[in-house]
Amino acid sequence: MRAWHVEAPGPAEGHPLRLSTEDDIPRPGPGELLLKVLACGVCRTDLHVTEGDLPVHRRGVTPGHEVVAEVVALGEGAGEAQVPGPGGSPARPFTAGDRAGAAWLRSTDQECKFCRRGAENLCPHSRYTGWDADGGYAEYLTVPAAYAHRLPDGYTDSELAPLLCAGIIGYRALQRAELPERGRLGIYGFGGSAHLAAQVALARGATVHVMTRGEQARRLALELGAASAGDAADPPPEPLDAAILFAPVGDLVLPAMAALDRGGTLSIAGIYLSDIPPLNYDKHLFQERQLRSVTANTRADAREFLAHAAQHKLAVTVHPYPLDHADQALRDLKAGAFDGAAVLHP
Ligand SMILES: [Zn+2]
Ligand SMILES: [Zn+2]
Repeated sequence: MRAWHVEAPGPAEGHPLRLSTEDDIPRPGPGELLLKVLACGVCRTDLHVTEGDLPVHRRGVTPGHEVVAEVVALGEGAGEAQVPGPGGSPARPFTAGDRAGAAWLRSTDQECKFCRRGAENLCPHSRYTGWDADGGYAEYLTVPAAYAHRLPDGYTDSELAPLLCAGIIGYRALQRAELPERGRLGIYGFGGSAHLAAQVALARGATVHVMTRGEQARRLALELGAASAGDAADPPPEPLDAAILFAPVGDLVLPAMAALDRGGTLSIAGIYLSDIPPLNYDKHLFQERQLRSVTANTRADAREFLAHAAQHKLAVTVHPYPLDHADQALRDLKAGAFDGAAVLHP
């Protein structure tokens, strides 16, 4: 089969990735599914894996963790994992021919104190698709059945791919922001993850104010139903009950905290943030305003989000690339050459 490998992590403009055409199709281990890839989203984290911003966890790893696929074979015991469907359909095992999704969280130990209290996203022994194990920049991959996802109907394979990371992380960031019913939400930065989280909030009746640089992003925000769209550090037209910072810019924590109403919460969605300047207690924190980070996601987050997507059709902008051009897709992502999400097709 064809599969990309991170040969030597380094700048995407060089050639850190190598396309092999002679890999063996992997065999599913105990509890694993063998998936035939239908579409795989290109996430910024893939760029961090490819360029070496994240340490090497597996030499020559195949990136990709927004994988829409067909189940083609089951390893020993994989048919015992009961996986709930989107929208509360009953849990059942995967069988050959099912459509399945593979996301960033590949496995956890289910034994540590974090897993036991429902915070498997904090498990110190968690493993990740496309970093610790080969991912979806390939024709086939294997994933533990218990960590695979059932996918909602009503979307193309291409549209589903970005839901599996950008969508899930945006959803967790929204949950962490504790937006009250019909509340006022501020969104700072408006890329792939933000535009999906905004749609979830709007479907729940929130008033959404978007602060972002870039005329095109502001236009998209208004088209999707945002009440206002201003520049990155602009004050919103009214105080916010909750806010999410998607831009990896620590400087924006200050205007975002200052924009919160009493008791408001700011959640920081990114895996990376530049330094936060000193906060002024009275201006940025007092009156029980809260500042929170977001770390990966639990399977429960993923399933709640996919259930929402099953009930409310989300608008997803995708840019298809053939699998053989994955390196170009990463370079274009880095250069900001497109809006929406790049998706690879074998
Ligand atoms: Zn654990
Ligand atoms: Zn991702």
